[in-house]
Amino acid sequence: MSTHTPLPLRLVYLALALAWWFGTGLGRLARRRVVVLCYHAVSATQREGFRRQVASIASRVIPTSEIDAAVLRGGRGLPAVCLTFDDGYVGLRENVFPVAAELGAPVTVFVVSENLARPPAWPLPPGAPEAGEPLLGADELREAMGTGWVRVGAHTATHPRLPDCADAALHDELAGCRARIESQLGVTIDELALPHGEYDERTLAAARQAGYRAICSLDACLHPARLPAGVIGRYLMSPDAWPIEFHLTCAGAYAWLHAVRGLLRRVARRRRRAAPVGELRHGASPRAGTEAAVCAGGVHEGSR
Ligand SMILES: [Zn+2]
Repeated sequence: MSTHTPLPLRLVYLALALAWWFGTGLGRLARRRVVVLCYHAVSATQREGFRRQVASIASRVIPTSEIDAAVLRGGRGLPAVCLTFDDGYVGLRENVFPVAAELGAPVTVFVVSENLARPPAWPLPPGAPEAGEPLLGADELREAMGTGWVRVGAHTATHPRLPDCADAALHDELAGCRARIESQLGVTIDELALPHGEYDERTLAAARQAGYRAICSLDACLHPARLPAGVIGRYLMSPDAWPIEFHLTCAGAYAWLHAVRGLLRRVARRRRRAAPVGELRHGASPRAGTEAAVCAGGVHEGSR
C-alpha cells in the first residue's frame, strides 16, 4: 500500500489504544459490541500473516449477516469480529478463502458489479501493490460461496464517489449493482460497502431505497455506534499490521478513533475556511475516510 500512517502518529495511536485498554479494565466496556475489519488485497507473501491474525481470533469471528443478532445477544467476553474484503481481488481465492475454510472464519467480499474479472477501472493510490490485479469473476465468486465460508455483498457498479453522483447514476450504482450481482450469482444481496467510505444523507437514502440492510463505511468505530441508521463502521486492516495493533483493534481498543478523526476533520475544515482562497484545496467530501491520514491497526488511509 502506498499511504501508510506516519510512524510517529501510529505510535501515538498505539499508546492511546493501550491507555484505553487499561483504562477500561482490559476493554470490558467494549463488550457486547462488534469489531468489523476491512481488508483489501491479500498477496501470497501476506498469506501467512493473515492466517496468523485469523487464527488468533477465529473463535470470535461471525458472519456479517449476524452482526445485529450478536449485539442483541450481548454476553461477556471480547467483541465479536467480522472479516470483510473490499473490491474482491483475485488473490483472495488463494490467500483468504482457504484460510477462512480451514479456520472456520466466515468472510464477506464486497464486489464491483461492472468490474468483475478485470483490474480495477477506478484510480488507485500511486504505487498501490494491487494495481493491475484483476478482480474475481462471477464463476470464482460462485465457487467461493459454495464453500459456505464466503458471503458476497455489493460495492457499487463502478466504484465512484457516491456523494458526487447525480440521482440517476446513484440509482444505477446502488440498485443496478444489486440486481446485477443477484442475477449473476443467484443470491440475495442486502449488504453494501461504500466506495472510499464516503456517504451523505442522499447516498444513504438511496442505498436504503435500493434494499440494502447493512451499509458498511470506513468510520473507525465499534458497532453499534452513533452512526446513521443502517451504517456499520469498519476498521481498515492489513495482514502487515503489528500483532499488538491487530489484537488491540479486535479488542475494541481503538474505539476512540472515530471521535478523533471527526475532531481532526473539523479542525482541518476550520483551517481551510480560514486560509486564503488561493491556498484552498479541493476534494473534501461530506463523510470520507480519506480526509484524515489516520488509521488503526497498522493500516492505511481509507482511499479505496
Ligand atoms: Zn473499494
